[in-house]
Amino acid sequence: MTQILDGKTTAESIRSEIAAQVSHWQQAGGPQPALVAVLVGDDPASQVYVRNKERACKSVGMGSQVIRLPGTTTTQELLELLLHLNADPQVHGILVQLPLPAHVDSQRVLDSVSVLKDVDAFAPENVGLLVQGRPRFLPCTPHGIMQILARHHHTVSGKHVVVVGRSDIVGKPIANMLVQKDIGFGPELANATVTICHSRSLDLPSITRSADVLIAAVGQAELVRADMVKPGAVVIDVGINRDGDRLVGDVDFESVRNVAGAITPVPGGIGPLTIAMLLHNTLAACKLQDANVPLKSAV
Ligand code: NAP
Repeated sequence: MTQILDGKTTAESIRSEIAAQVSHWQQAGGPQPALVAVLVGDDPASQVYVRNKERACKSVGMGSQVIRLPGTTTTQELLELLLHLNADPQVHGILVQLPLPAHVDSQRVLDSVSVLKDVDAFAPENVGLLVQGRPRFLPCTPHGIMQILARHHHTVSGKHVVVVGRSDIVGKPIANMLVQKDIGFGPELANATVTICHSRSLDLPSITRSADVLIAAVGQAELVRADMVKPGAVVIDVGINRDGDRLVGDVDFESVRNVAGAITPVPGGIGPLTIAMLLHNTLAACKLQDANVPLKSAV
């Protein structure tokens, strides 16, 4: 029978573990971990994401602040704000909600977040540390994938993992994590043989059919069909696509569940884990800054 990998329950467990860790940390004299989210403009989806992150922080005992700025805010104004937040010892994590308005130099803004407060793990230094197999922070969505695999006792060592999608946020980092020798989850959840596919990959179905673990991070509703999946494969669906009133993934869940050995649903799969891992990174950032040991790993 196909195993449904329930991200909602997994995320709830992680969040209660983090709440206990925050409480223990503060009882031991540590400062309250605090996340600041910077939201520019009035994109409705971004407002919902930021509100959910703010609520999640509060639910585990962390401090949380949202700085809401008008859509006319300039790159220079954002850089000045980040200088101030980077220097504020009561701010441990900084999140710049994307997308920024088109007139803002997003790359320059993201690159200006202190590498010790970079809870999204987007900064070039943090990406570089991950590529070298000694991450400071793991990016949140790929970390969520690792957690759902680990907590359902799936392994990847020696197996063929196919990642469809090569974004900096999901595809590249998860491929980088699974190909390492061990980034903190043990050698069984590393050492994979990884193939990355993208829009120019030829004959995608023949590649995905050879996957023991298939990770879809594409942004195309139900692109992965049953005939593209090896029987018994573990299928991780990162996609969130709107189909009328429904949210659907990049995987055709109803057909693929008959073939796969295990599968994440949408909604209720990887989505809830992303925020849980943001909380994890905020606590880790707080501990790093408190210890003042800049190069120590926070994973
Ligand atoms: P993205 O930056 O748009 O990247 C999509 C990738 O898919 C690109 O590499 C693209 O190839 C590739 N692609 C597009 N069409 C393809 C096709 N027909 N065949 C093969 N590859 C194809 O997207 P993203 O930010 O990684 O997000 C992917 C999905 O995950 C979206 O639905 C997003 O909403 C969702 N997401 C969910 C979470 C969560 O918390 N669950 C977090 C982040 C993202 P090229 O590079 O060649 O263009």
